[in-house]
Amino acid sequence: MKLTILGCNGPYPSAGGACSGYLLSEGDTQVLIDCGAGVIANLARHIPWEALDAVVLSHLHYDHMSDLLPMQYALQFHPRAVPLPVYAPDSPAAVRALLDAPCYDLRPMEDAQIGEIQFRFHPGRHPVQSFALRAERGGKCFAYTGDTNELEGLDGFLAGANVLLADAGLSAADWAMEKPHLSAERCAHLANRAGCGRLLLTHLNPKYAPEALEAEARAVRPDAEFVQIGRQYEI
Ligand SMILES: [Zn+2]
Ligand SMILES: [Zn+2]
Repeated sequence: MKLTILGCNGPYPSAGGACSGYLLSEGDTQVLIDCGAGVIANLARHIPWEALDAVVLSHLHYDHMSDLLPMQYALQFHPRAVPLPVYAPDSPAAVRALLDAPCYDLRPMEDAQIGEIQFRFHPGRHPVQSFALRAERGGKCFAYTGDTNELEGLDGFLAGANVLLADAGLSAADWAMEKPHLSAERCAHLANRAGCGRLLLTHLNPKYAPEALEAEARAVRPDAEFVQIGRQYEI
């Protein structure tokens, strides 16, 4: 599988940046994971609109789904044979209702085979219903925490992933158990406990210098790095 970074800020984009959006590809299978502000402009650099097999939304905070609103317009000009499957949580219902459009086929967050990739989901801990995911193909596993803080059972769900993409939305100093995100340092401990092969950090809040958060993570795991728009990772 190949992971292409389309956006990696949260909860708002940096200058020239974009919020969460990750294209996971295998053969002809193209799955967009999250679709925050700025993501579809970067998606169009990589694949035609018609090539997407599905969209998977970890949760319905705007920084993970807002670009699905203008994508409805793009799909009017690039019509598909069938509506685009969109896997999304049930709540908040008012946000989910925004996606109730003829071009989208809304589906629940249940295990799914999407083209050549098998997806599994696990609840996260966040102010709204949120999910972590595992995407597997040919003995390789990509895992993504979605937005979450520490949660019992998450280590086991992420266990053994070849690549873990993790929510590093906070500095170590700003982290607390009641906050909605992990810190970069806690992502590193999580990746170690789960025995993940490689740690990629994301959900960079533009108020932080990425080097500072990376340094906190690298004190635990020297391989930790923030992803960047346009970079691709083999899994
Ligand atoms: Zn977020
Ligand atoms: Zn969120």
